Order: sequence, then C-alpha cells, then structure tokens
Amino acid sequence: MLYYNNMTFLDPHHDHAHCTADLIARAERTCERRGSKLTGQRREILSSVAQSHSAVGAYDIIERMAEHGPRPAPITVYRALDFLLAHGLVHKIESRNAFVACSHSHEGQPAALLICETCGTVSELDAPEIFERITEKAKARKFSPAHTMIEMSGTCGSCARAA
Ligand SMILES: [Zn+2]
Ligand SMILES: [Zn+2]
Ligand SMILES: [Zn+2]
Repeated sequence: MLYYNNMTFLDPHHDHAHCTADLIARAERTCERRGSKLTGQRREILSSVAQSHSAVGAYDIIERMAEHGPRPAPITVYRALDFLLAHGLVHKIESRNAFVACSHSHEGQPAALLICETCGTVSELDAPEIFERITEKAKARKFSPAHTMIEMSGTCGSCARAA
C-alpha cells in the first residue's frame, strides 16, 4: 500500500480519495471473483465506512448516509456490514463495536488492528506468525480455535509527534 508511513500508520495528509477509489475497485473485484454482487446500497455503505480510517459505529454510518439521502433502516446497514465483513472489505473492532474499512488486501490472512486512542485511526498490522503462535498454543490446550482477533490500543506516530 502506497500511502503508509512507518509501515503501518497512514500519513494524516495522504490523498484519501485514492484510498476510497482503491477500496471500491477491490470490492468490485472481490465480489466478481466470488460471484456475489456489490449492490448500490452495499457500495454506499462501504464508502460511508471508508470515509475515514477511524472506527465508526453502525448508527454513525446511518447518520452519515442520512446526510446525503434517505435514512437507511438499521437492519439494512447491519446486513450490508455482514456482507462486507464476510468479504473482508471491512473489519469489526470488537472492543468498540465499530467498523473500519480494510486498508489493504490480505485475503484469508488475519491482521491485528492497532487503534489510536487520540485520533481514532485504526491501522492493520500483518503478523501471521503471531496468529499462528496463538493458534498452536490454544490447540496444545485441546482448544479448537474458530476465530482470533487481536486489537491493540495506544498512540499512533503522528499523535505522538504532535504531543
Ligand atoms: Zn485514506
Ligand atoms: Zn484488512
Ligand atoms: Zn493518532
């Protein structure tokens, strides 16, 4: 991904329109490959989540959409989010019950989410070895893992510099 500094966190002054265009193009490719449809509504909800790199709750998504058009029903938004989650186009931040658009393609590979407590930016960290390690340890305890998520909160580089 082009717009990363420090390998993980986005420069606050990056060209965000580029991120959104990239994401929509990727969403179209992913859906086509999987034989599913990126309907107008799903695309709109994805763009709304992708408005920034911060976590956004379902009700904020509804508010964002209501600024430009009819207010969508919560069930519509939840269904579209389920679809986008299943296609790896958005991630759920469990600790905040919020969502963030996926910033890079990592099909099938989990990514750890780093959440800045100051600006709210969420970035993704590829660390397959950590996920493998946890899975191994869980299995060694006769645990059958289904889904692992790693969320880390802290301060991003730009906020640390600004402080
Ligand atoms: Zn961006
Ligand atoms: Zn992602
Ligand atoms: Zn920050």
